[in-house]
Amino acid sequence: MTAFRFILILIFGWVGLASAHRIEDADYQAMKKKSSAQAGPAPKTAEPFLKFPEAALVDWDEKYLYVGSDGLPDHPMMVGITAWQQQVPLPQSYYLGNAWSIPLNPVPAKVGMSAKTNFFRGAIAVAANGIPIFNPIKNDGRTDTYLAGELDEYGGHCGRADDYHYHVAPWHLAEKLGPNLPLAYALDGYPIYGLKEADGGEVSGLDSFHGHTNASGEYHYHASKSYPYINGGFHGEVSIGGGQVEPQPSANPVRQAGEPLPGAKITGFIMSEDKKKYQLEYKQGGKTGSVNYEILSNGNVHFTFKSPDGKISESTSEKGKQRKGGDRPPPPPDERQRGGPSQKEGNGQPRRPWIENHLTEMDGNQDGKLSQEEMMLEVNKTFSGYDADRDGKISQGEANGPVVRSSMAGFVKQHFSEVDGNSDGSISLEELKTVAMKMWEKYSQGEGFSFPRPPSLEKP
Ligand SMILES: [Zn+2]
Ligand SMILES: [Zn+2]
Repeated sequence: MTAFRFILILIFGWVGLASAHRIEDADYQAMKKKSSAQAGPAPKTAEPFLKFPEAALVDWDEKYLYVGSDGLPDHPMMVGITAWQQQVPLPQSYYLGNAWSIPLNPVPAKVGMSAKTNFFRGAIAVAANGIPIFNPIKNDGRTDTYLAGELDEYGGHCGRADDYHYHVAPWHLAEKLGPNLPLAYALDGYPIYGLKEADGGEVSGLDSFHGHTNASGEYHYHASKSYPYINGGFHGEVSIGGGQVEPQPSANPVRQAGEPLPGAKITGFIMSEDKKKYQLEYKQGGKTGSVNYEILSNGNVHFTFKSPDGKISESTSEKGKQRKGGDRPPPPPDERQRGGPSQKEGNGQPRRPWIENHLTEMDGNQDGKLSQEEMMLEVNKTFSGYDADRDGKISQGEANGPVVRSSMAGFVKQHFSEVDGNSDGSISLEELKTVAMKMWEKYSQGEGFSFPRPPSLEKP
């Protein structure tokens, strides 16, 4: 590694990793400005992230802490992976409306949800350095990514959009965090501590999600060295869409997802200080292959691949449209068919109707019922949020653009072609209303029209 790095310094004149900083794009600048304009102290949930000011940005409102990052941690990535899908780390723009959101006032769910049978897509937690943490079980619903050799020495790897993420607890952050701060926050708003209690005491009485309530009545999770590694599910309420926690930032893919490269082991990785140039080295059958890549000034990425048998190929990938990162499989066939969203989760379990998962958010007057008016307000809010150019239509581009903060936003993105009733490639207000009303009618005819208020709303 040292010699390898030395040669690179001779060739390129740059050194990796020592003091890598963020790619300071416009969204980063805007979020930083917004964050520094916050009046009053940061919420308690922000504490672990504030320990990594070079890596994570925080911003907040009454409901959420927003954690911004470029998705690239300040430690060597990829080295040690023995089951590689040929993805590599590229910077992401998890800022502003595309930042990670953590509820500031977590609400215990009536029935928690296990990560053993759910949430195989998207992140389930965010590490203190702003890097997302995915379910340790990958999207096939059974493979333990750690045991399968898919993870590097820091517990991470890259998803289909070349987005780096962890699948286990970020133990390497513990030293900087100290014993009192959690390693990460789960996306239901509860903290994830290490092997000991914050006061140094032994951990006991964990539930099936690897959490418990302390003497002061506060719930938290504990990470572990074997499964579940992090939170084994959600004790608290989360919104779910398409089998993952919503909202969830989008990643920026620049190329088609890679295929597994059997027998390859990643042996070296270097990133330039400005995060523009990268080199990944691997061994396969005793020979060395590499992927060199560089982000060009226009945002395109130039790749040079050297295969273990010495063949060299090059390609320049163009920045694609935004979509979810991670290890997402293609949508199941029934999701792509017309005639309404699938009623099954990826694991074949019947899915709760979308409307049920978002009732409390859409119940504007908090009377425990979702009126037709409230449903329509949500439709209008979502529509005007997406229709950036105000032409009365949501184009594919707009749907894949910046995240809109409304309960229906994720639904529109994920079910674009189903909502586009006349298949003209864009969604009109009428089309969105039609789908929303269909769901509302179906729901209002069913039983259980009332629903309990989350406890947090009952506080003064
Ligand atoms: Zn504890
Ligand atoms: Zn992954």
